[in-house]
Amino acid sequence: MNDFRETLYTVDQKGNRKWVYAVELWGFFRRARTATACLLLLFYVSLPWVTIDGAQAVLLDIAHRRFTFFGQTFWATDTKFLFLLLVTLGLSLFFFTALFGRVWCGWACPQTVFLEFLFRPIERLIEGNAQARRKLDQAPWSLAKARIKFLKYFIFSLIAWFLASTCLAYFIGRQPLLEMMGDYPWHNLSTFLLTLFLMGVLLFEFGWFREQFCTVICPYARFQSALMDDSSLLVGYDRVRGEPRGKAKDGSNGDCVDCGLCVRVCPTGIDIRNGLQLECIQCAACADACDSVMVKIGRPSGLIRYETEKGLAGKPTRFVRPRLIVYGALLCLLVSLLGYSLKNREFSEVVILHPSRDVLFTKLPDGKISNHLELSISNKSDQNRSYSVSIQDFPSILATMPISPFPVAANSRQKAPLFLSFPGDLLIDGKRAIKIVVRDDAGFEKVLEVNILG
Ligand code: SF4
Ligand code: SF4
Repeated sequence: MNDFRETLYTVDQKGNRKWVYAVELWGFFRRARTATACLLLLFYVSLPWVTIDGAQAVLLDIAHRRFTFFGQTFWATDTKFLFLLLVTLGLSLFFFTALFGRVWCGWACPQTVFLEFLFRPIERLIEGNAQARRKLDQAPWSLAKARIKFLKYFIFSLIAWFLASTCLAYFIGRQPLLEMMGDYPWHNLSTFLLTLFLMGVLLFEFGWFREQFCTVICPYARFQSALMDDSSLLVGYDRVRGEPRGKAKDGSNGDCVDCGLCVRVCPTGIDIRNGLQLECIQCAACADACDSVMVKIGRPSGLIRYETEKGLAGKPTRFVRPRLIVYGALLCLLVSLLGYSLKNREFSEVVILHPSRDVLFTKLPDGKISNHLELSISNKSDQNRSYSVSIQDFPSILATMPISPFPVAANSRQKAPLFLSFPGDLLIDGKRAIKIVVRDDAGFEKVLEVNILG
């Protein structure tokens, strides 16, 4: 087969899907990945139940445009942090892919973790090993087959419901979710339908679509080759040592006995011996498989291993290289910038609004002029704060708020009416630029410029 660059292993000549029945085999990498996946699953499931400073550790409250991360609450107006975070994450992807290849895909991507460590093990438990699963799928429909399939999809549905509900807990909060669960579905119809939709997506993805997500849809798989070079880590087959492959024991062959086990364990159905391929998620299942074969035939393990292309070709690998230095330097800069911005973050935000465009000013009985403004005050901290106002440079202007200092509850926004009264001779051509100083009781101070009118 030399057409592996042009065809998908999981699609036949007619364009029909070839189902992958990956053999499960335990080895060093499988054990390490299982431990990692368990930790990640535990993290995902338990995070909505963790409380930090009285609030849910991670809460993405889109309805109220408030996002809480480990005790820090961000608002929709905090776009600076979102921008810095996204650029940092994007650059980390560049940096770590250049260094470790697609380690994310094989070890931490939710697609891999849910499929390989949750759905597939349950499938194995119910339908048996790869051979039994293939036989069952090829068998005509019978009561026994229907019973097995029903049981599998019933358990899949329960897991999908649990994962979908956990996902919702991140967006609507664990407490409202629990309350909704204890209520009739039609009382919270939109949440109920959203849960069903998410369940449907998960069932479709992990029950049927599976590895096609990585091989056909995932954009990361497509641009990874631009991010990697011959010194990036990958799971590779040592051609120098393995070829010519064959079963003959006369010493004319390399170490590969062409048993095909590395292909049978591959969750995307490819043959690693063809070299780096888009479909390879670098899960190292083939490395475990090959190591088990090498042990049996008394040859050193590592015919398939984590290695760089240079290493596989017997050349020295250069881990420190220009692209890594550039990515690393930019990453350090961005992380420092993000850290600095977070440390010096202001928890109060004040904007001046003009509540009415029709009535710009009113004349008071004592001859003074009054302007009605509004302060929109956002208190982004976890403590209640009080805000007071003063006027810079113009002692003749009187600033009045209905309550002063004006209280704003933690993590909320309020509008405070502000009345400015001043003598008419302060104005030049009917207006004057002044500065309003807003302070809170935690040291925040902001100077706002505004035109008073008359
Ligand atoms: S498992 Fe190892 S020995 Fe068997 S075919 Fe694959 S590379 Fe060759
Ligand atoms: S070729 Fe090996 S590392 Fe790549 S996806 Fe298949 S089993 Fe995993």
